Amino acid sequence: MAEEEKASALVKELRESFNTGKTKKYEWRVSQLENILKMVEQREKDILSALHKDLSKPEQEAFISEVSLTKGSCTLALKELKHWMMPQKVKTSMTTFPSSAEIVSEPLGVVLVISTWNYPFMLSLDPVIGAIAAGNTVVLKPSEIAPATSSMLAKLLEEYTDNSAIRVVEGAVAETSALLEQKWDKIFYTGSGRIGRIVMSAAAKHLTPVILELGGKCPAVVDTDVDLQVAVRRIIAGKWACCNGQACIAPDYLITTKAFAAKLIDALILELKVFFGDNPMESKDISRIVNLYHFTRLSKLIDDYKVSDKIVLGGQRNENQLKIAPTILLDVPEDSLIMEEEIFGPILPILTCLSRASCPSPAYSFLTFILSLLIVLRCTCIDNIVENLEDSFAVINSRSKPLAAYLFTNNEELKKDFVKNISSGGMVINDTILHVTVSGLPFGGVGESGMGSYHGKFSFDAFSHKKAVLYRSFEGDSSTRFHHAIVRSQEGKN
Ligand code: NAD
Repeated sequence: MAEEEKASALVKELRESFNTGKTKKYEWRVSQLENILKMVEQREKDILSALHKDLSKPEQEAFISEVSLTKGSCTLALKELKHWMMPQKVKTSMTTFPSSAEIVSEPLGVVLVISTWNYPFMLSLDPVIGAIAAGNTVVLKPSEIAPATSSMLAKLLEEYTDNSAIRVVEGAVAETSALLEQKWDKIFYTGSGRIGRIVMSAAAKHLTPVILELGGKCPAVVDTDVDLQVAVRRIIAGKWACCNGQACIAPDYLITTKAFAAKLIDALILELKVFFGDNPMESKDISRIVNLYHFTRLSKLIDDYKVSDKIVLGGQRNENQLKIAPTILLDVPEDSLIMEEEIFGPILPILTCLSRASCPSPAYSFLTFILSLLIVLRCTCIDNIVENLEDSFAVINSRSKPLAAYLFTNNEELKKDFVKNISSGGMVINDTILHVTVSGLPFGGVGESGMGSYHGKFSFDAFSHKKAVLYRSFEGDSSTRFHHAIVRSQEGKN
């Protein structure tokens, strides 16, 4: 059967299943969530082994960020589901007196979850948990770039959950495009903005709402008054200890003052040794780059600075093992390629000089050398040295809105100004990435970093329609009289 026919038959089957009403029942939702929890507990070894195959993900990291977070989402949904499903009473108005009103959360129907490869287990199951909790039937399309996890998810969900309502479709562009041709009641997509646009335009044909969990360049501003060791550990934990920088909320670049940069870099180098030893290329505590495409892309970003003094740490790599060492660059120009695209890898530029002029790549001939020299003179920092960290706000705000923004400081005024003036999906003061673990906070982007959010109750809401219901009785007819009064006054005017 052609891809499109298969996709169409699948949606038809799941819609029929939804129409029986079984997925709306509290008991069905609970049983599926319990099965997923059981699956994660019983098959933990298989899950960790698939993540190791796909990304050499260290066991401890995989356990915390994939297994544990998924279990946490499931446990929370099981604990709170009854409460989430309860209609929410709201006040009524004089016009409707006597009456009562409530917001009823109803499932949307048949939903599609398209997932990505960096946290291929958790980022696939977390939205699926929300979709099931809200009473939908769901198709999951995991990422083909993490093939071991993709096929494991297909196998495990078939074994543990109700296949008449929960399905996995494996595949790449052809399979995803066929799925996107179908009419869904919601599409939840995690990945790049480029594909996000394809997803959104496919959804528009059917007026299907979308949640887009995208990426961006997440800045971290580091003040000079911080507990440096703690700050640096937290930056390393969010950057390299999370899939070696291949995380959507990893700090993408740091901004600090010119005077403080050397101290910050020394501290980073020292603590990186504590995390990954003297030779991080040999470390078992760091993920590899996912594939050759991304390895080459990241290598090019480093090679742009090969013959300059901008690489202050790292740069080592091994193509056969797809490994790149933690790499720190100092003062790359703000309009260079590395500052234009999301890095999504182990390279961390530090900016202390907000210069927009393109500094030259290494000179290859005498003529280009002279030319380069002239440009270097033009782009050395004279006026744009960061002395005051508020200067960084304009730089951050001149770019697309990031998925996360971080600030390390003890200065209360600076904290307030950062929260007030920086627009980002989420933010953390004095740490990185941990907002993702707080289920009471919505997780999602703004602007180019995405639309919509999930986690905890927000996941349930993401896959529910909030139906407005007004109850009246035949007692009292004040509003009818009110209505007639308006009509009569209109007639009087005419
Ligand atoms: P991607 O967009 O290339 O792939 C994601 C999904 O899209 C995969 O399932 C893939 O099969 C599908 N896909 C790929 N090409 C397609 C096409 N032409 N038509 C239809 N579907 C297609 O993204 P990626 O490289 O896998 O992910 C990296 C990006 O994801 C980064 O920008 C990162 O920041 C972002 N990300 C965001 C979050 C978040 O929660 N906001 C989490 C992880 C990653």
